[in-house]
Amino acid sequence: MQGARQRPPGRRIGKGPGLQRYSVFALARQARRHHLGWQRAWRDAQPKRAYDVVIVGAGGHGLATAYYLGKNHGITNVAILEKGWLGGGNTGRNTTIIRSNYLQDASAALYEKSRSLYETLSQELNYNVMYSPRGVMMLAQTEGEVRGYRRTAHANSLQGVATEFIGPERVKQLCPIIETKGPRYPVLGALWQPRGGTARHDAVAWGYARACSDMGMDIIQRCEVTGISSENGHVTGVETTRGSIATRKLALVTAGHSSVLAEMAGFRLPIESLPLQALVSEPIKPCMDVVVMANTVHGYMSQSDKGEMVIGGGTDGYNAYTQRGSFHHIEETVRALVETFPIISRLKMLRQWGGIVDMTGDRSPILSTTPVGGIFVNCGWGTGGFKAIPGSGWAMADLLARGAPGPIAGPFGLERFREGRMIDESVAAGVAH
Ligand SMILES: Cc1cc2nc3c(=O)[nH]c(=O)nc-3n(C[C@H](O)[C@H](O)[C@H](O)COP(=O)(O)OP(=O)(O)OC[C@H]3O[C@@H](n4cnc5c(N)ncnc54)[C@H](O)[C@@H]3O)c2cc1C
Repeated sequence: MQGARQRPPGRRIGKGPGLQRYSVFALARQARRHHLGWQRAWRDAQPKRAYDVVIVGAGGHGLATAYYLGKNHGITNVAILEKGWLGGGNTGRNTTIIRSNYLQDASAALYEKSRSLYETLSQELNYNVMYSPRGVMMLAQTEGEVRGYRRTAHANSLQGVATEFIGPERVKQLCPIIETKGPRYPVLGALWQPRGGTARHDAVAWGYARACSDMGMDIIQRCEVTGISSENGHVTGVETTRGSIATRKLALVTAGHSSVLAEMAGFRLPIESLPLQALVSEPIKPCMDVVVMANTVHGYMSQSDKGEMVIGGGTDGYNAYTQRGSFHHIEETVRALVETFPIISRLKMLRQWGGIVDMTGDRSPILSTTPVGGIFVNCGWGTGGFKAIPGSGWAMADLLARGAPGPIAGPFGLERFREGRMIDESVAAGVAH
C-alpha cells in the first residue's frame, strides 16, 4: 500500500516503547504510588487529512478490524471514526454470550474461529476481557427443537465444534434452578456447548482500542461521518463533523446504521434495523454458573460476576432507531423466564436498555466488497455479533488488506442475496443473543 506506515506483523501488545504493560507487578508498583501513575489506555487523537484505511464505527467489529489490520498485515496508518464514544453502540449494550454452535459450515468456521480467539484474547491484548467459558445450553422444549438440535450437534461434530445433545437429567444437574417438568413446555433436552460462555463487553472494546492506539492508529471519537465521496466509481474520502478525511479504502462497520452509511455511498443493503433490548435484575447470591437459552418460550439468562441476572428476549416487530425497545417485550421475556426459572419470580429488575441491531434475511452477516470501489462493509450481525468480534475483525482485515475476501469471509458476500445462495441460520439465531 503506497505511503502506508507499515510495521512488522505480530508484535505483542504492551511491548511498545511507551505503553505500560499490565501485570501483577505493575499493579503492586502503582499501588505504592496511590495509582497516580497509570497511563491513559488510548490517545485522544485528532483527525489527519488522509489515511490509508478509514474505518467508520468504533464498536467491537471496527476496532478488531483495525487491530488485525495492524497485527496480521502491518497496516497502521488507520483511522477509526466514531460518532459517539467507543464501544457505546451494541458492543456496550449486549448480553455477552459467546458460542459457535451454528448449523452451516460457513458460520461454524467463522464463529468457531472467533470463539477460539476469545480463549487467549486477554493474554494477546494484555487486557483482561474476562472470558468465562462457563458453558452455554439451548433448551429443547418441543419435539421439533429436539430434532433440530440433534441435527446441529451432528453438524458441529463434523465441523470440529465441540457440542453435544444432553438429556433433561443432565440439564437439571448443570443448572438446578431450571424447572424441567413445567406443564406447558417441559425440558426435553438441550444443545450444550461446554466452551461457550461470556466475556466483559466493554473490556473487549477497550482492549482492542488500547492495542490499536499502541500501534499508532487514530481512534477519533465524537466524529460522525456525514457524507462519502467517490470519483469514477472509487471512494476518495469521507465528510465528518470534524472535517474531510481522504482515503482510498473505507470500511463501514456501523451495525444498525449500516443502511444509512450505504445510502451516503450510493448503494442499498438488505438490512433491517430493529431495537433489541436486555435487562438486569438486582444482584443475588450465585445460583447459576451456565448460560441458558429457552427459544420456545423466548428468553435467555445468565448471572453476571456482580450477581445480577442478565436477561434478554426478542427484537421489536418493527423497524426503528430508538435505543429503548417496546414494553410488551420486557413483559413477554420476563414471563417466559419465570416459567423456566420459577425461583426468580420475586426478583426486582434494576435496569433495561436497547440497541439497534442489523438483521439480514438469512440471519447471517455481511463481510463484503460493495458496488463502490474501495468501500467494504461489515454488518448484518443482528442479535448475535458480540461473539463474532475477534473472528469478524480477523476476516475483515484480510478483506481490506487484499481487496478480496479470504476463506472465512468468502461465503458472506453481498452477492449471495442476488444469487439466492443464503446461509440460513434462522434456527441458530432463533432467540436473540
Ligand atoms: C440488547 C442486546 C443484546 C445482545 N446480546 C448479544 C449476545 O449475548 N451475544 C452476542 O454475540 N451478540 C449480542 N448482541 C449483538 C451484538 O451486540 C452486536 O452484534 C455487536 O455488538 C455489533 O458490534 P458492532 O461493532 O458491529 O456494532 P456497534 O457496537 O453498534 O458499533 C457501531 C458503531 O458505529 C457508530 N456509528 C454509527 N453511525 C456512525 C456514523 N455516521 N459515523 C461514525 N460512527 C457511527 C456507532 O455509534 C457505534 O458505536 C446483542 C445486541 C443487543 C442490542
